[in-house]
Amino acid sequence: MLSDTRISGTALPAFDRIRAGDVEPTIRELLQRSRGEVATLEGQPHPTFENTVLPLEQLAHRLSRTWSPISHLNGVLNSDELRASYNACLPLLSNYWTDLAQSEALYQAYRDIAASQASTLDGAQRRVLERALEDFRLAGVGLPKERKERYKAVVQELALLGAKYEENVLDAMNSWTRHVTGSAELAGINPVIVEQARARAAEKGLEGWLFALEQPTYVAIMTDADSPALRRDFYEAWSTRASDRGPSAGKFDNTEVIRKILALRHEAAQLLDFPNYAAYALATRMAPSTGAVFDFLRKLAEVAKPAARREFTELEEFAGRKLNAWDVTYYAEKLQEKLFSIRQEELRPYFALPRVLTALFAVAERLYGVKIVERAGVPVWHSDARFFEIRDDSGKARAGFYLDACARPKKRAGAWMDDCVGRKDFGAEHTVPVAYLVCNFLPAGAGKPPLLTHDDVVTMFHEFGHGLHHMLTRVAYPSIAGINGVSWDAVELPSQFMENFAWRPEVLADMALHFETGEPLPSDKQEQLLGSRTFHAGLATMRQLEFALFDFRLHAEYDPARGARIGEILAEVRSEVGVFAVPEWNRFPHNFAHIFSGGYAAGYYSYKWAEVLAADAFSAFEERGVFDKGVAQRFLDTILSQGGSRKALDAFVEFRGRAPDVNALLRQQGLA
Ligand SMILES: [Zn+2]
Repeated sequence: MLSDTRISGTALPAFDRIRAGDVEPTIRELLQRSRGEVATLEGQPHPTFENTVLPLEQLAHRLSRTWSPISHLNGVLNSDELRASYNACLPLLSNYWTDLAQSEALYQAYRDIAASQASTLDGAQRRVLERALEDFRLAGVGLPKERKERYKAVVQELALLGAKYEENVLDAMNSWTRHVTGSAELAGINPVIVEQARARAAEKGLEGWLFALEQPTYVAIMTDADSPALRRDFYEAWSTRASDRGPSAGKFDNTEVIRKILALRHEAAQLLDFPNYAAYALATRMAPSTGAVFDFLRKLAEVAKPAARREFTELEEFAGRKLNAWDVTYYAEKLQEKLFSIRQEELRPYFALPRVLTALFAVAERLYGVKIVERAGVPVWHSDARFFEIRDDSGKARAGFYLDACARPKKRAGAWMDDCVGRKDFGAEHTVPVAYLVCNFLPAGAGKPPLLTHDDVVTMFHEFGHGLHHMLTRVAYPSIAGINGVSWDAVELPSQFMENFAWRPEVLADMALHFETGEPLPSDKQEQLLGSRTFHAGLATMRQLEFALFDFRLHAEYDPARGARIGEILAEVRSEVGVFAVPEWNRFPHNFAHIFSGGYAAGYYSYKWAEVLAADAFSAFEERGVFDKGVAQRFLDTILSQGGSRKALDAFVEFRGRAPDVNALLRQQGLA
């Protein structure tokens, strides 16, 4: 399913030709071929890095670049047919990967290579072996047959449950709309969103306005809609997605899915002799122990809680009443407006997507000496999607990325970066890395570019930071190139690091230009925007800590005799770190996709963990000037380009000259 379009010799996916009906046969055929090749390698009489490890890296790379466009399409252009093909492939893939990781012959081969070639391999090659040996052990390679079989079945079921969870959330979102018939209820809402709702109603032959449960609409209504009833309806629909409560109660309910996922994760961990899933997850993380994670989160909570309490009290005083959960964002926005004379919606005309991209690319160009250029004519999955190349100073493309920026139906909520093609540089074939950057910004109104809030701008910088991690890697081996093989709790370093540039005056001067007049954002507005960065930092921190503690406790404290205890643990976490009351019917766990279908299981704490690293790394830039070439080069050389070729802590220490320090983050957020 590759197209004729290439980037530095690397073929790009034929998005215009991928048919749901071809997916399963293609994957079956490829897996069968790969199994044959693996069997040959297992029989290799004298395994070496060259004759065994490289071919296996090659096989994994081929499979992941074939599967990646399919899994991507399932996320951004979901359909019943594609969903069925995607789901049919999940068990096949899961079994293939588990069989590979449980191969005694390959495990023995890797151990022999590590012993016999130790002195001739370089650091990256040794790291490939080290990571692979870890993967073998974490797939139960040494276990008795029945336990291996059971582990394989559990992993397979988990893959399917993750997909089901995500489907339920997407279906719940697509199934709900809110019809507004009187214009009074529209007060406060951004006209672009109102116009889209009017068009949607007209399409369905309805009077008035029809609002969908899409992320930009939800955020805009929670922030700006003057009508408490409208806000409440949206809050209820959003916070009960895929649950037993709310407007779609029971229809796409994830309750059982969550219970099964937690039970199976616990079982998988125990099959491998870990006490629980959190301990299992930490085996490849930077955090040394479950206790260290709890300590870290609770210490941060201690610092942030008084600030958060103060912020909330001040907010209720400002509102002049007790606030419901669906009032908090609305009044926070009003208070921010009063304190800083600034509104997110009002900033939109100054953050037109094309200009934001130009300024963002200029930052990367200045820091890392690359050039970013859009390329037309590359096959894409939707007319919204665009393709860009990252070129080095000789003009050669060294990476590429797709950008799919705006929300639309059948597209998963949120923002993310994903790997389309990984970097590989050995043997005959060299491939350059290619990424997907996906966001859910408010689509453009008629005759206008998409207009972003500053929050959106920060999101764009964040995802681009992940993209640079994937794309500027210099590592030759796919299993440790880019974000591969990076400890999950360090993976948010490059992304959160990049967010800082969205707040720099010199970047804003280049980026915040009115899309019609070209006028820069007035300097008082800019100062107010910068001043607002730490607004409600305490509340925001406590919210992240609530998610992180909930996730970590669910996985660390699972007890088969007592079941998942989702509601109880959530209530306990809220009483520990919650700052305001949340309705009893809020079903946040039912749509917490990060931990149930998104790779952050027992890992949501990673955001805060890596934020410490990101803020501390950025403080090195602040000390020397944020565009200092020397610091940028060192960051690129020691962290950004290194992928998983070295341990996250070692890379950080080499860059910073010392271990990470939490104070840079506390200062940045005004919590010091
Ligand atoms: Zn991220």
